[in-house]
Amino acid sequence: MIIDTHCHYDMMESPEDYINKVENTGNIVIGMTNLPSHFDMGYEYIRKYKKVRLALGFHPQLADEHKDELSLFAKYLGRTSYVGEIGLDFSSEYISTRDIQISCLKHILEELQGKNKIISLHSRRAEKELFSLLLDYNIKNAIFHWYSGPLSLIPEIISQGYYFSINEAMTLSTSGKKIIEKIPKDRILTESDAPFNHKNDIASALRNLGLEENQIEKNFRLLMQRIR
Ligand SMILES: [Zn+2]
Repeated sequence: MIIDTHCHYDMMESPEDYINKVENTGNIVIGMTNLPSHFDMGYEYIRKYKKVRLALGFHPQLADEHKDELSLFAKYLGRTSYVGEIGLDFSSEYISTRDIQISCLKHILEELQGKNKIISLHSRRAEKELFSLLLDYNIKNAIFHWYSGPLSLIPEIISQGYYFSINEAMTLSTSGKKIIEKIPKDRILTESDAPFNHKNDIASALRNLGLEENQIEKNFRLLMQRIR
C-alpha cells in the first residue's frame, strides 16, 4: 500500500479520476487544501471515500490575502482528523507577509491545542520559528512536509515525536539526501506533493530510500493510533 500524506489533488485537472484511482488500488492519500473555503468545497464529495481523505488547510503564502477566512478554520475543524497545509514561509517571495503569517498561524495553533489531529506543515526558510511555535502551543502529531531546513534542527524535531514526509525529488537531490540521512526510519512518511512537484512517484521514492512499503504503513499506523 502506498501512503501519500501530502497531495494537492484538488488542484489537479481531474481530481475525480485521480482519487478514484487511489481508492480502487487501496492506497491512501491525504489531500491538502490551501484555504478553509477549498476544504468546504471538497468535503461533502470526499466523505464517501474510504482511502481518500481531506485535510483542512490555510496556506501561509495566502495568509495576507485571505486572512478573512481564518474564522472558517475553527468552524470546519471538527469535520476532519487532518490539518494541512499550514505553516510559515519566510522565503524571499513571502517574507514581506511574515507578521501576518505568524499571527494567522498562532490563531490556528490555538484552535488545534488539545485536539487530536494529524498536521502537515510547510516550513520553508522558517523551520526554527515554526518548530518553536509548535512547542509553545504543545502541538502533537506534526509532519514536516518537504523539509529543507537546517540539519541541526532535525534531532530536535525527532525528539518531539514529529515525522517527516519525503517525496521522490528529495531522494534525488544532494541536499535532500543529507536531510534523509538524519531521519530515523520510523519517522519517515511518504508524500507526492503532486501536482506541483513533478518528481512525485512514491514507489520510486521508496526504492531510493531503500525502504519497503510496509515500513511506511507501520509508521503511519502508529501515528494514526495516537489520534484514536
Ligand atoms: Zn503542498
